[in-house]
Amino acid sequence: MKNKIKSNRMNRREFLSTAMVGSAALAGTVLGFPVISKGSAAIELPSLPYASDSLEPYISSRTMSFHYGKHHRGYVNNINGFIKGTGLAEYSLEKIIKTSAGDASKVAVFNNAAQVWNHTFYWKSMKPNGGGTPTGLLAGEIASAFGNFENFKEEFATAAATQFASGWAWLVKDGTKLKVVKTGNADTPLVHEQTPLLTIDVWEHAYYLDYQNRRKAYIEAFLAHLVNWDFAAENFSRV
Ligand code: MN
Repeated sequence: MKNKIKSNRMNRREFLSTAMVGSAALAGTVLGFPVISKGSAAIELPSLPYASDSLEPYISSRTMSFHYGKHHRGYVNNINGFIKGTGLAEYSLEKIIKTSAGDASKVAVFNNAAQVWNHTFYWKSMKPNGGGTPTGLLAGEIASAFGNFENFKEEFATAAATQFASGWAWLVKDGTKLKVVKTGNADTPLVHEQTPLLTIDVWEHAYYLDYQNRRKAYIEAFLAHLVNWDFAAENFSRV
């Protein structure tokens, strides 16, 4: 029995490492937050891709300690509680999201699973000394879809600012076109047949400690100093 459990866990880890976007973050150092402990359930909290104070002064380590250490971790703990002992425990995170989407009996499963995925994607959408402009093929594609990069920034910032209450703004590939979209609460482009390239979290917990009600200032800082165009380009190159 013990061997069986161990071998299942290995299989899931191997599976996740190929299935999850940016799987490299599943391994490696933990940067001040305990991440994976022996005996932890199936869905793991990926480590942050940078030190928790390295986005300062635009996002404080205090925000990171709550946002990553409490909110993201909470979603991971919740989803593991929901799937434990059910058929969903054998699924990848993405499959859990896709099979629970739109199922009225699985709203809490969807919300927590999607929030785990969205947050992992959000951390990677930023980097210390980010900002600037996209390069390569993605730069051309953005210019072609939005007219120019300034127009893209305006559309993205407007989507992020006008998402009523909690949610997300995204740059996605939808079919052959790049689009800016916004989603409410835990909703994610993954279940709308769109491929996410980049996201900003506009739940108040993402910015309130640093910006209070000034969501626009947080969005401007994200675009000017934090956005990780390398990550977006990497996602773009896969689709
Ligand atoms: Mn959040």
